[in-house]
Amino acid sequence: MLLLNCPCCGVTAEETEFHGGGEAHVKRAGPASEDAAFETYLFHRENPKGVHFERWRHVTGCGKWFLAARDTATLEVFGTYSAQTLAPPEVLLARIRAKRPGFTWRDVQ
Ligand SMILES: [Zn+2]
Repeated sequence: MLLLNCPCCGVTAEETEFHGGGEAHVKRAGPASEDAAFETYLFHRENPKGVHFERWRHVTGCGKWFLAARDTATLEVFGTYSAQTLAPPEVLLARIRAKRPGFTWRDVQ
């Protein structure tokens, strides 16, 4: 069972109260971008066995979007945070590094 905490309203509930929205922190490619960059934006997503950053929406609650970091293999949730961020909060990255030594994510070491 996956338990998520909505950082917008503070409710902790099972995943059935939420709806997944795919990978978080996808870099947008504008209409003037190269074809390869636009293809990456549209179709290429990470699918790790391990720590993943995802978008979630609290559909049966406040209706707002938020982001979550969880392990796709164990369903361990490391934390949730506002969707209005460009990168995971440092405190969350430190929590992940403490539990998963050697963890790296894109430009974050
Ligand atoms: Zn909520």
